[in-house]
Amino acid sequence: MQIYNSLSRKKEDFIPRTEGKVTMYTCGPTVYHYAHIGNLRSYIMEDVLEKYLRFTGLDVTRAMNITDVGHLTSDGDTGDDKMLKGARREHKTVMEIAKFYTDAFFEDCRKLNIKKPDIVVPATSCIDDFIKVISSLIEKGYAYISGGNVYFDTSKLEKYYVFNDFKEEDLAVGVREGVEEDGNKRNKADFVLWFTKSKFDSQELKWESPWGTGYPGWHIECSCISMKNLGEYLDIHCGGIDNVFPHHTNEIAQSEAYLGHKWCSYWFHVLHLNTSSGKMSKSSGEFLTVSLLEEKGFNPLVYRLFCLQSHYRKSLVFDWESLKNTAATYEKLLSKISAILKERTGKIDTESAEYGDLMRKFRDALDNDLNTAMGITVIYDVLKSGLSADQKIGIIDEFDRVLGLDLVKNAEKYSDEKNSQEIPDEILELAEQRKNARKQRNFALADEIRDKISALGYEIRETRQGVEISKK
Ligand code: AMP
Ligand code: ZN
Repeated sequence: MQIYNSLSRKKEDFIPRTEGKVTMYTCGPTVYHYAHIGNLRSYIMEDVLEKYLRFTGLDVTRAMNITDVGHLTSDGDTGDDKMLKGARREHKTVMEIAKFYTDAFFEDCRKLNIKKPDIVVPATSCIDDFIKVISSLIEKGYAYISGGNVYFDTSKLEKYYVFNDFKEEDLAVGVREGVEEDGNKRNKADFVLWFTKSKFDSQELKWESPWGTGYPGWHIECSCISMKNLGEYLDIHCGGIDNVFPHHTNEIAQSEAYLGHKWCSYWFHVLHLNTSSGKMSKSSGEFLTVSLLEEKGFNPLVYRLFCLQSHYRKSLVFDWESLKNTAATYEKLLSKISAILKERTGKIDTESAEYGDLMRKFRDALDNDLNTAMGITVIYDVLKSGLSADQKIGIIDEFDRVLGLDLVKNAEKYSDEKNSQEIPDEILELAEQRKNARKQRNFALADEIRDKISALGYEIRETRQGVEISKK
């Protein structure tokens, strides 16, 4: 498989460090509010990546943090603490907010068929690990204490801006001109590892540390949680594109300074979902959540399909009209699959050359930097192909292990719903009577009822999926 690596800025063959095994880390949600569907675009595409790696036979272990402390509104060291802001907004404690929105996040994930990572760790459960790594960074000379806080010293690194071609003078000693500059920093790119002095005197969650009572910065949590659970070499790290700087840049700085060697081989970044008016927001404009999609009558999986229809490395614009079109596409797919379901014979065919070709085409699409849009077009090729109905359903089910669109499952429901929608109650009642007659082996009565149904313009048939009624 080839994956675009943000670190080298090119597509590379994906080769895990240990043959057959993959360690994968994902930056988890900051649980101060519901996730918006932009956040969830990132998690959907990361989920497809994980599922595809598993599909190719790799044994994936994936870890994710839950940010319940330390994430400031600026992503850097300024602004309000997001958790504190959430707690104030709802007149609750930070831990109450964290619990509520963590559960809400996983409920959204469930609706979108996003698998829960193998390891999920709230930042507040790892304070000792953060303290251990920060102490070691101080010992090694990569961190310093200033004005009560502990900072990472970016000037100690050969290269700090690993993802972007920043100019060398950006690292120069001195403070940035700006409204909220932290005068304790030696270099303007330095960042906080541990806060004891901050403007958040009302910070609810504080812990004892060798540098005083305080709380960790946001970046240190992902480094520590990854190293603790996935070891000192990480194969692939995921996140939304906004995480590249400063978050992932800082994660690399502190992890590699601590470990003394390269830490993570591949960086997978998902471009943003935007609205036509710009950036997706939780506070202004329409707050787009999974619940809102449902309120407007959309199956959340329609949104998943919407995401899969475009490449993760292109920004995507969301609007209701486009989602409506995707809903129509999803329904058409279900209707075609439900027609094939009726043709199944239950006979297991040997795999034909055509089956192999279609499977190869699907894999080629995903092997090419996770081209999910191309992967979906292979479903249409399957529908048009000469495969038997059973093979068609079988291969679509295989693809769906990666795509997660519940195609066959929902196609089954789709035909049931269609049936019950269009058939008048009188006919359904007669069908029920006929079923009971058959159960009692009263076939003469069953045939009589069938004739009655026929006289009323409907046809009744036995299929492998049960009784089917249709208009004549
Ligand atoms: P947060 O809860 O703010 O920590 O963000 C959770 C994830 O969503 C991170 O990986 C972000 O990079 C990602 N993200 C934030 N905004 C968007 C967006 N508009 N589109 C796609 N991903 C996003
Ligand atoms: Zn992170």
